[in-house]
Amino acid sequence: MEFVFLGTGGGRWMTITQRRHTGGFRIHGKQNIHVDPGAGAVARVASKRIDPLLTKAVLVSHCHPDHYTDAEVFIEAMTKGMTKKAGLLAASRSVIHGNSELGPAVSRYHRSRLAEELVLSPGDTFKIGDMGVEALPTRHSDPDGVGFKFYTDHGIITYTSDTEYFDEMAEVYRDSNLMIINVIRPKNEHLKWHLCSDEVIKILNEIRPQTAIISHFGMKMIPVAMQEASRIERETGVQVIAARDGMRYMWK
Ligand SMILES: [Zn+2]
Repeated sequence: MEFVFLGTGGGRWMTITQRRHTGGFRIHGKQNIHVDPGAGAVARVASKRIDPLLTKAVLVSHCHPDHYTDAEVFIEAMTKGMTKKAGLLAASRSVIHGNSELGPAVSRYHRSRLAEELVLSPGDTFKIGDMGVEALPTRHSDPDGVGFKFYTDHGIITYTSDTEYFDEMAEVYRDSNLMIINVIRPKNEHLKWHLCSDEVIKILNEIRPQTAIISHFGMKMIPVAMQEASRIERETGVQVIAARDGMRYMWK
């Protein structure tokens, strides 16, 4: 399966400035899935000559603009311009129903054309084609946020989404072969509700996947993302790749 990283920036300043884009990533396998179509995702898809009409599922982990703003456009693509009942939207409660502070991020009109809509809580499982997906807990400023674990023919792939470190991570991410980790800051520069590089080292030493891809960088992380990937790799023995905007990655 192929991963396409449409955006590797994260947080408000990256969304505003687009120094790194904020389009989330796509999984191209038996089904085409768009994960976290944040601000600019539809433009990034066009620039990579990917056909948005081929999208079968949209997954939105939480209700922050760098993760959700283009979700409705991808629903329009999945439903062939709202002419067909089609597509799956699986998203946090905040994205679909809203909570006391955030959302909802998808209109009733857009929801009405979906073939399937799933309001996710941590621990929920569902299928996209024959691939199992599990919603994972997070600790983030959207309390309804979820991560995802994909049970693929090529092993277990985990996407942390935005979260700070929590003790149960070792159990939650267990048996991951590939991890996609959102890390906003370098070194030990802890930021509430997010991960910094040193916390990623802790996670990888516990989980020991074959490969980790770090993404969702903030302003302080962009200039040093490659060095930080090498440092994390040295300190863990896990192959670590710093995602770049537009990067395609084959996983077999
Ligand atoms: Zn967030």
